[in-house]
Amino acid sequence: MSEHANLLSKYQDLFRCPICFSPMETAHSQSLVCRRRHCFDIARQGYVNLSVRPVHTLYDKRLFASRRILGRSGFFDPLYDILCKKIVKAGRAENQRIRLLDAGCGEGTHLHRMQETIRRDFGMELLGVGVDLSKDGIRLASREYPNAIWCVADLAHCPFAPSSFDCIVNMLSPSNYAGFRRMLTDDGALIKVIPGKDYLKEWRELIHGGTGKPSYSNDRTVSRFQEHFKLVEADRVRYRYALDDTLIQPLLRMTPLSWGVAEERLQQALDRNLKEITVDLTILVGRT
Ligand SMILES: [Zn+2]
Repeated sequence: MSEHANLLSKYQDLFRCPICFSPMETAHSQSLVCRRRHCFDIARQGYVNLSVRPVHTLYDKRLFASRRILGRSGFFDPLYDILCKKIVKAGRAENQRIRLLDAGCGEGTHLHRMQETIRRDFGMELLGVGVDLSKDGIRLASREYPNAIWCVADLAHCPFAPSSFDCIVNMLSPSNYAGFRRMLTDDGALIKVIPGKDYLKEWRELIHGGTGKPSYSNDRTVSRFQEHFKLVEADRVRYRYALDDTLIQPLLRMTPLSWGVAEERLQQALDRNLKEITVDLTILVGRT
């Protein structure tokens, strides 16, 4: 049995049918089936597709490939270090694996790096589950990161049982707060990462400079978070990251900031050869 299929059957209790909400179990390492026989195939690469309808997403393979390059370069490492401390703090009693959901995991590098960091710094194994709307993203994740469970799913049709996770990480990705509440244990934590006002500011200035575009504020996102969760911690992580030539294109491609910007303008910005970029993120920790 593949490592993926092993994990899926070991943790099949995490799942519930996104159509009729009844419990599910794995069948012959090939599918997840509910009591009413709704059946979801486990792909050859090891992920399971639990989406109930096709979803259009603007996130394509090129964007995911770019995020992977940045994620592996160390771009987010200072963030991972802080996140992992918070995840471990949010975890459960000793000897139990922390169950972590990465909601909007994309191509999976964030979750993988967090699992590695927690193993290295805390000697703990973490059950990681990554979920994303994008099949392209999940396919990339499952191909290279066999130590986690990967699912294509829409949290509006949630495929996880109530109280399944000790911690949910939601990084630079939209939230489904009602779904998060349902999936967290009573003392579980939601950790949401949002851009701060200086996030990628050099890049922003290059592509929008002089167009009078107002500066970004995350106040509204924080208020929305507080409408659904009790905000117990808010930390700002801000650092500058040195870019070499191999990272400039991926940086450009990884962010929706570049969407809708004329190719000519992007090219001009690229030609400026940025040497350093500011990473400015806010980490919100919420309890139910
Ligand atoms: Zn069902």
